[in-house]
Amino acid sequence: MKKIKIIKYILLLASLATAYSASAFESSFNLNLNALVVSVCAIMSLVVVYLLTIVHSLKRSHSQLQLSEKRLKSTVEGSGDTLWDWNIKTGKVIRINDKYVMNSNNLVEFPPNKSLIHPRDLTHVDYLLKKHFAEESTFFEATYRIKDSFGKWHWVLDRGKIIEKDANLSPLRMTGTVRDISQLKSTEDRLNLFAKCVESLTDALAIYDKDFRLVDINPSFLTLFGGVREQYLKKEFHLAGYDKSYIESIKNTVRKHEHIQEEVKLRNSDHALLPFEISIDEIKNAQNQITNYVVVYSDLTERKKTESELNNLSNIDRTTSLPNRNLFFSDLQKLAKQHSHHALLVFDLDNFKKINDSLGHQLGDSLLAKLAMRLNKLTRENDVFYRLGGDEFALVMSNTNDILTITRMAKQFLAAIATPFKMAGHELAITSSVGIVLFPEDGNTPEILLKNADTAMYHAKKKGNSYLFFNDTMNRQAVKRLQIENLMRFGLKEDHFEVYYQPKMNIRTGKLAGMEALVRFITPKKGVISPGVFIPIAEETGQIIEIGEVVLNKACRDVKQWLDAGLFNARVAVNLSAKQFSLPDLTSRIDVILQKNELPSYFLELEITEGTVMDDPQEAIAIMRSLSARGIHLAMDDFGTGYSSLAYLKQFPLNTLKVDKAFIDDMKTERGRNMVDSIVTIAHNLDLHVVAEGVEQASQISILEELNCETLQGYYYSKPLSKDEFTAFLKQQQSQSKLSLIRATS
Ligand code: C2E
Ligand code: CA
Ligand code: CA
Repeated sequence: MKKIKIIKYILLLASLATAYSASAFESSFNLNLNALVVSVCAIMSLVVVYLLTIVHSLKRSHSQLQLSEKRLKSTVEGSGDTLWDWNIKTGKVIRINDKYVMNSNNLVEFPPNKSLIHPRDLTHVDYLLKKHFAEESTFFEATYRIKDSFGKWHWVLDRGKIIEKDANLSPLRMTGTVRDISQLKSTEDRLNLFAKCVESLTDALAIYDKDFRLVDINPSFLTLFGGVREQYLKKEFHLAGYDKSYIESIKNTVRKHEHIQEEVKLRNSDHALLPFEISIDEIKNAQNQITNYVVVYSDLTERKKTESELNNLSNIDRTTSLPNRNLFFSDLQKLAKQHSHHALLVFDLDNFKKINDSLGHQLGDSLLAKLAMRLNKLTRENDVFYRLGGDEFALVMSNTNDILTITRMAKQFLAAIATPFKMAGHELAITSSVGIVLFPEDGNTPEILLKNADTAMYHAKKKGNSYLFFNDTMNRQAVKRLQIENLMRFGLKEDHFEVYYQPKMNIRTGKLAGMEALVRFITPKKGVISPGVFIPIAEETGQIIEIGEVVLNKACRDVKQWLDAGLFNARVAVNLSAKQFSLPDLTSRIDVILQKNELPSYFLELEITEGTVMDDPQEAIAIMRSLSARGIHLAMDDFGTGYSSLAYLKQFPLNTLKVDKAFIDDMKTERGRNMVDSIVTIAHNLDLHVVAEGVEQASQISILEELNCETLQGYYYSKPLSKDEFTAFLKQQQSQSKLSLIRATS
């Protein structure tokens, strides 16, 4: 602009100079009038040019102003703010981007738009504005409500600054922005929601100020504790029935940990003393200063009731952690539905009351807990040990009615109970008696079973520190089993186990094909006890392992002697029990015995039953292979009485199949004959040698011959014979064959 002005002045001076020089030139030639006209024209044209330039310049600056105003407007629009310009003297307010359509008015009112500001906020706005006018604040800043042209209130944030003052420093003009802070409204909505929640809360709630003076309460507070709101307001926090020091300690905890939760007893509006849980939380403002405390009173009456109900109902006894009486009955009910055999052992402690009375309940309880732990360890995997109440306990042994298993457990329990407990400097010796019932034999409901078990326990107590079955036959059997167990223990020590031998005959030649070693238990007092009686007990107690080794050792020893004497040259078949078969070191045990007796494994055959191998067929195959690899023959005993899995039979490395006596007996009928025919055929297809067991009659021999059975064993030829008898039998066999040899050659 300045440049243009300078140029215009230069042009003006230039034209004036031209006019002057022209006039001088004219005067010199006496042409004064003409020169004057020319000068005036030149000056006028210059003035016109000058005026045109000014107009053009004004136009340009106006459009520039419009442009920047437009830019400013769009910037303000984008920001969402309303821009205002207030002429303080005239009261005129110009607004850009006015959302509230507040038409500018010319009223000189203070503050401007006074009539639109919420009456409650007006004083506040007025105060802040005056403060800015008095130069006490750099900015005017206020949040207040303002009414729009539709009569709707808006929360706004208004900020401004004086930009012009007169000579006396009185403010002339102020500009600023107004922003709609509508998000505040949603915050307010949330606050309202929270307020409603607090109001409808069942728990009583009280809000205190930072000095623990009550500010407000919710309706539940009055429902619970009665009274009216006003009587509580401004009162200091306290709990009726609790002294000041307790209240102070609560306050201190809250101050220290920001929170506290306590169980207290307070009286409700009906003066009933009820359990309450009070929880106190502190509330802080943005500056992290505590402004309030919120106290929530939760009535625990219902919770306590259900808790104790749950406790009663729950299935675990607290003292011993054992399942309790409730669970006992429901478990027994379930077991009864399964129709399985199970045994129930019930006992109490003989002198427990004395201990409780003299040493106190606490010690009594810990004794019970210790006992429970000790006994629980003895139970089998699926047995459950219960505390029925007081000093009464029960053990449920599922899936068994085996007297030996049950009596062993009863004995173990009695021994464990009788082992003294060391507690609080005392050595406590307790005794007990166990009553035993069997399901379903002794009752078909849990109640009857328990009653009968109690009766049995009562009788056992008379004997003292013992166990008794409810059923007398059971008692007799139990006693007998126990006697045999004891006899076997004694018999093993005293060498009362002997081996008898039963010959196996070749059906075609009628000559000895081998023999089976059969154990005989010969007791000095009770005479010979049959293997059918003691073997199952020995299996249960594990004594069969020792007995089996005695038999194998004696059989090897005897065979070695007959071999050396030239009386025998075949295999001896020794029965192997399931327990022995599953011994991890079975093969090495056998190796040791064979070596000790210097008997080659070629002379040994082992008889195993289907039950033994079917428990874990894959494992059985592995064991059988390792035995077979040593040259030991393997026979499947009692074939047809067990699982009879032909599919597996193929996989087992067997040499011999022994057809059970029951099939041989059945050959009287055609069906029975067909059955044996099938078994023999299958065996031969599997390359197995067939032995018929329990052959008693000549008629059976002729049938078996027809069916191509190779070997026979049974009373027809011989009963099991003692070592001496068998030696005689061998000698007789030898002389017979010598005789037949002489006959053949002569
Ligand atoms: P088992 O292995 O089937 O033995 C055959 C049983 O049938 C033997 O009974 C034998 O005396 C009997 N017996 C043989 N021929 C006849 C006959 O013609 N008629 C009749 N009625 N019976 C006959 P034992 O010796 O009483 O043995 C019974 C069972 O005891 C054996 O059955 C076997 O399972 C087991 N056992 C015998 N000795 C031992 C042994 O040393 N170890 C093992 N683990 N078990 C053995
Ligand atoms: Ca056998
Ligand atoms: Ca057999």
